[in-house]
Amino acid sequence: MSGRISVKYVNLPLQYEYLKDDIIDKIKNIFYKGDFILGSEVKNLEKRFARYCDCKYALGVGNGTDALFLVIKALNIGKDDEVITAPNSFISTAGAIANAGAKPVFVDVRDDYNINPYLIEDAITSKTKAVLPVHLTGRPADMNPILEIAKKHDLFVIEDAAQAIGTEYNDKKTGSFGIAGCFSLHPLKNLNAGGDGGMITTNDLDLYEKLIKLRNHGLRNRDECEFWGYNSRLDSIQAAIVNVKLDYLDEWHEKLRNIVTTYQEKLDGIVSFPRDKSRVNSTNHLFMIQCDKRDELQNYLSKKDIETKVHYPLPIHLQEPAKKLGYKEGDFPIAELQSKRILSLPIYPELTDEQINIVTEEIKNFYSHNN
Ligand SMILES: *Cc1c(COP(=O)(O)O)cnc(C)c1O
Repeated sequence: MSGRISVKYVNLPLQYEYLKDDIIDKIKNIFYKGDFILGSEVKNLEKRFARYCDCKYALGVGNGTDALFLVIKALNIGKDDEVITAPNSFISTAGAIANAGAKPVFVDVRDDYNINPYLIEDAITSKTKAVLPVHLTGRPADMNPILEIAKKHDLFVIEDAAQAIGTEYNDKKTGSFGIAGCFSLHPLKNLNAGGDGGMITTNDLDLYEKLIKLRNHGLRNRDECEFWGYNSRLDSIQAAIVNVKLDYLDEWHEKLRNIVTTYQEKLDGIVSFPRDKSRVNSTNHLFMIQCDKRDELQNYLSKKDIETKVHYPLPIHLQEPAKKLGYKEGDFPIAELQSKRILSLPIYPELTDEQINIVTEEIKNFYSHNN
């Protein structure tokens, strides 16, 4: 008999299959025009991205990490400053803060994997300049208390929305709450390019104008430099690909929502997972369960050709460069406990009911033999 059905963690070629005509046409057109960097596709994407995120401005940059870094730089946050963020994000979040010269200060998370707003005030010092919540897995951080605390202490709020394009909190899109929202167009994100790319959203005209220069060598025009800047621009080819995909994003998010509903129905009582609070619309970048015997389960699934991932197995405060800042095991018990119990199941719009069923049945099988 031919082999059983495998379930990959991601399967981008399936998406390319139905988008390829549009994508190839656009790329050809760019070659014919020779319009490769910050071209008309980028301008068009910036306009559409801003509208999609309910923001006045959006600008394309080299990647999501640069989006964070450039915003921190543009706000003049650097040496001797502190930025409060979550310890369970992708390493990039803290890396961007540190590379800008500031100190990442971590605050533990809650059951929903996002920063616990009620622990933020204890972490504020005279050096704190910003709070940088991460909307992890596509679920929004609890923005109301975060904004309140930030206002009270006169801090910027910078959103790491790399996993949360289109996510809503109280009917507002992520990326529109703080001074700026930072997005990634990495191939593994919900809205993605054929390589690296990033976007920044803001409603602040001064910040927007500063960032336009900062991403392009600090140039005011072709020949005049206003300050030392960076080269972090979005390519036309990447923007063109994202322009094609943006038309499908809401449809994909609908599919991801249905997949999560099915996972939740089938896995209820077997593993645990956070559920959306009212007036929250997650975009399910990841479907992350919490479970006992995580490593054994992951191994078992792998033997059944079901690929899963852990986002992320080692919290940032326990990574080498953070240890040098004085962090140690036990500092953030919730994030540490979660890092040993979380498992991300396959989730993408092209995943079939049959595949979802295989995943959930095998998880049930595992626990029926391992309790
Ligand atoms: C992917 C990601 C980033 C970084 O984006 P890149 O485009 O890969 O630089 C930052 N933060 C989070 C939470 C991410 O998931």
